[in-house]
Amino acid sequence: MAMIRRTRQRRAVLDVLEANDRPLTPGELHELARGHDPRIGLRTVYRHVRQLVAEGRLIGVDYPGQPRRYELVSPGGGQAHFICRICSRVFPLEIEVPVINPPNPPGFVIEGEEVIFYGRCNNPACRRASAPRRRPQSRSDSSKARSG
Ligand SMILES: [Zn+2]
Repeated sequence: MAMIRRTRQRRAVLDVLEANDRPLTPGELHELARGHDPRIGLRTVYRHVRQLVAEGRLIGVDYPGQPRRYELVSPGGGQAHFICRICSRVFPLEIEVPVINPPNPPGFVIEGEEVIFYGRCNNPACRRASAPRRRPQSRSDSSKARSG
């Protein structure tokens, strides 16, 4: 009954994406899908992801220096995302993204766009983590109290 198992595993992948409502890497998807079907393998997850992308139900989202994540295609089209600088999780933002038509350099083909906001998510560990330090604007601020 391989067909039934395949359908169930595909359903598990979709359920995980629906339940989490944020883009997930195949690795994250695999971890979460094992809660639905402990026997599901990473290669199976990849196969279902490829199929769902080909069917237009999933879309890959890329962020610099990060593995590709996948999310369900939203009917509204363009979407903005929030990325947590502490845990690297990505969340969709419910805002309308204006249509931008940038000028293409000659010979370039634009294949997608991403609107990304950065910060810290509401996970307590991320909220507690100290914000990334900014470099001092100028060196004139040498009024720090010296110990002793
Ligand atoms: Zn976080």
